[in-house]
Amino acid sequence: MSTFIEIVYFAAAVLFILGLKQMSSPVTARGGIVWAGVGMVAASLVAFLEPGVLAHLSNVVLIVIAIAVGSAAAYVTAKRVQMTDMPQMIAIYNGMGGGAAAAIAAVELVKLAGGDHSLGATVQVLAVLGGLIGAVSFSGSAIAFAKLQGLIRKTIRLPMQGMVNLSLFVATLIVGGIIGFGTGASIEMVLIFFVMALVLGVLVTLPIGGADMPVVISLFNAFTGLAVAFEGFVLENAAMIIAGTVVGSSGTLLTQLMAKAMNRQISKVLFSSFGTDSGVAVEEDIEGSMKEIEANDAAIMMAYAEKVVIIPGYGMAVAQAQHKVQELTQLLEERGITVKFAIHPVAGRMPGHMNVLLAEAGVEYDKIMDLDEINPEFPTVDVALVIGANDVVNPVARTNPDSPIYGMPVLNADKAKNCIVIKRGKGSGFSGIENHLFYADNTRMLYGDGQKAVGELVAGLKQL
Ligand code: NDP
Repeated sequence: MSTFIEIVYFAAAVLFILGLKQMSSPVTARGGIVWAGVGMVAASLVAFLEPGVLAHLSNVVLIVIAIAVGSAAAYVTAKRVQMTDMPQMIAIYNGMGGGAAAAIAAVELVKLAGGDHSLGATVQVLAVLGGLIGAVSFSGSAIAFAKLQGLIRKTIRLPMQGMVNLSLFVATLIVGGIIGFGTGASIEMVLIFFVMALVLGVLVTLPIGGADMPVVISLFNAFTGLAVAFEGFVLENAAMIIAGTVVGSSGTLLTQLMAKAMNRQISKVLFSSFGTDSGVAVEEDIEGSMKEIEANDAAIMMAYAEKVVIIPGYGMAVAQAQHKVQELTQLLEERGITVKFAIHPVAGRMPGHMNVLLAEAGVEYDKIMDLDEINPEFPTVDVALVIGANDVVNPVARTNPDSPIYGMPVLNADKAKNCIVIKRGKGSGFSGIENHLFYADNTRMLYGDGQKAVGELVAGLKQL
């Protein structure tokens, strides 16, 4: 039987890795999700065949009930969730993974405090580390969820926040070290350790705001993977070790990519409060005024362009305007106009958000450019059409060292010959700061819901 279990775990591991590989392209990503899901179901089912599991029938009943409740809740919420609410869902599921790993650690460490040393010295330390990382990920992800859901609107900072976080981190490590290495661990000490770790997750996440949220969500994702891998050693479960390592390493790579895209160091994200309160505009001296344009005039401007670059953002997702955008693209191309899409790595509310929407609408992949590719082209672009994007086209990130998004690479829409911005009104972006692009001489504002405004452009073009 144990050989069969090992073979299934091995097959599951192969499916996780192949699934992840397939997720690297939008064409194969759906298949990748299915493969990894099949691997996870197989690994979960075969865990029941582990020696001794079926012997404790009352436990098995509880486990089956928990799996049924969890699966039903996940199925219903995943079916209902709006695309724009995806990051919250990822944050909360992430946190649950971390919390589950921490719970495994808690059970084992309580046993250790009761005098059971069967884990062995090395695995005890792994249990402590997994517990710490899992608990931080759990409480931190819960705060990230609350922020993204708008339940916490303020960016809360303590005086000397960086020092407080660092001191708490060191203190938690010391208590964890006493539990993991020492022989004198008590249940009270284990309790204090987990409370400290949970508070650490809260304190680290509360001050993070503005443009750093994607980095922190991705970091907690990596943390959860690592915590699960460590607890896999505690339970001697190969599938947990492999799945955890895959999530931990891919999450770390994603975090690095996101941090690089934002031009931020991960240590600064965690220990030096950055960003502003969401929704609160920073008072700044802005010259000029916002100049409105009618849809018909905007359509004429585009019809006589040679090159148009479309910059989608979160507002395009809210408005579900992607199909109208594709219609607009086709009309422009029929007139011989070159159309490209410029995608910022953190546009929208999750990595790849814009790519997913554009792929759904049938936009060809070769028209989609990333930031480094498209930025040098802007001076030769006749019309940059910004649809519901704000932070990712804010030139203050380049020009104003006092701005909270200073240093974040942005799409240089302001350098195009003309810029048309579609948004509903004067609402700020996720980071809550004013956007100088909207006041520039070469920018015109086309006010309205994204789908409606692009629809008007389509209608305008058809009449020409
Ligand atoms: P922003 O959030 O900066 O701006 C979106 C703009 O869309 C708003 O100014 C809003 O203005 C407009 N808008 C909203 N609804 C509509 C609508 N129905 N029709 C037209 N416009 C609309 O979006 P960006 O994509 O530019 O930037 C993403 C931000 O989100 C970054 O700060 C990033 O750090 C953050 N973030 C990204 C994550 C990721 O992984 N990608 C995860 C978490 C956060 P108005 O109200 O006037 O219409």
